[in-house]
Amino acid sequence: MIRNYKRIVVKIGTSTLTYPNGSLNFRRIEALVRTLCDFKNAGYEVALVSSGAVSAGYARLGLTEYPDTLEKKQACAAVGQSQLMKIYENFFGNYGQTVAQILMTKDVVDDSHRLELVKNTFNALMSMGCVPIVNENDSVSCDGIRFGGNDTLSAYVGIACDADFIINMSDIDGLYNKDPRKFDDAVLIDRVEEINDEIRAYAGGAGSKRGTGGMSTKIEAAKIATENGIPMLIINGENPYKLYDILDGKHIGTYFAAKKN
Ligand code: GLU
Repeated sequence: MIRNYKRIVVKIGTSTLTYPNGSLNFRRIEALVRTLCDFKNAGYEVALVSSGAVSAGYARLGLTEYPDTLEKKQACAAVGQSQLMKIYENFFGNYGQTVAQILMTKDVVDDSHRLELVKNTFNALMSMGCVPIVNENDSVSCDGIRFGGNDTLSAYVGIACDADFIINMSDIDGLYNKDPRKFDDAVLIDRVEEINDEIRAYAGGAGSKRGTGGMSTKIEAAKIATENGIPMLIINGENPYKLYDILDGKHIGTYFAAKKN
């Protein structure tokens, strides 16, 4: 299926990018970057939605406790975001690719004029061969302009860059019919045609933290993406080289089919 796609958004979460102590997991980031650069070489256009700013900032600042107030989180994000970009700039640069940082807030996509402008920016960057690296603008975000997580952000980035496909790299293999850490007989769902109450129940219900990947926010992100005509795949991001399986036409993870309009 991927052969029909040209423009791909890849989303990777904090728990996949960082160690439990908050520091960046260079081995994983380098494997991810190398694979994405290979996708570029194979002719795909790639945008990366990367979390990890708060965590990297917390580690860099040497804090002993994870930030518990908004201002501390925002401060950590400011420190960590530049750390992240430095690493991405180096790793992508090693493989001859140019990165571009885009920090978004929700009010941008809620306003049709501003959305149009950001669409043009993504288009210009990707047409010039750059890899946009996107995060929420955590340091200035507040209620009302917050996406509330990078799963949601990735769906909007898919819309903003007119993507053909979104790959959400989680810390779980995909959507199961029940919690695989509690039930040995949990079955991975290969393909979802429609996001309904049954699918939501698999994810553990609204607001549930079930699954370290926070599956319910992924389902809601998949709903936004698929309703806008963009299919989404949830895979395990533990081994970024698994992205090659997708390139080789193998089925992994859970595929959410796009709605046909
Ligand atoms: N934007 C946050 C960060 O970079 C992460 C949000 C999320 O994990 O969904 O730390």
